[in-house]
Amino acid sequence: MLAGIRTLGPFDRFVIWTQGCRRRCPGCISPSSRSFDGGKVMDIDAVARRVLRHGDCEGLTISGGEPFLQAAGLCALIDALRAQRDLGVIVYTGYTLEELQEPDAPYASGSLLSRLDLLIDGPYIEALNDDKSLRGSSNQRVIPLTDRYLSQLPLYGADGDRRIELRAGSDGIFAAGIPSKEIAKQLVKNRKGEE
Ligand code: SF4
Repeated sequence: MLAGIRTLGPFDRFVIWTQGCRRRCPGCISPSSRSFDGGKVMDIDAVARRVLRHGDCEGLTISGGEPFLQAAGLCALIDALRAQRDLGVIVYTGYTLEELQEPDAPYASGSLLSRLDLLIDGPYIEALNDDKSLRGSSNQRVIPLTDRYLSQLPLYGADGDRRIELRAGSDGIFAAGIPSKEIAKQLVKNRKGEE
């Protein structure tokens, strides 16, 4: 979790990365978030308290891993937050919106969708990485589910504005945002070198 991030949506945002993803998108820049054994189990109220401490954050961005695999917990978190403050919520998912509306979608997907302002959907496809802002590849759609961020939509897919923010923490350096195509390639290459 990080506060005050400006590289995963408009305005200052609190960002939560959920742990666990069943996909294996080639070129995934976040393979450490895929394991279901990693991460830290946290109490929803404790997460809500942490988010609410940051009164300067306009909203919450949830990325992964795959957020929809924890949809029920995220609904409870959003409800706890909105009981205190009007926060906008953006989610990045590897599912398409249509998949999330199918009967066999992950549990509570519809409930989570009903709480979101903006959904960035679809898996990362390395060959479609067009180096444009705020999403990884051109197949990923930016879907407004309320009108909260309508005026901000042109930021997504804009030219030449990929940025990452580096934060130092007790666990080392953490990067938040969508890296440029070149940096993404380098990260994947370095990882292969380590394997
Ligand atoms: S959906 Fe995201 S976290 Fe999962 S494999 Fe694809 S890029 Fe990685």
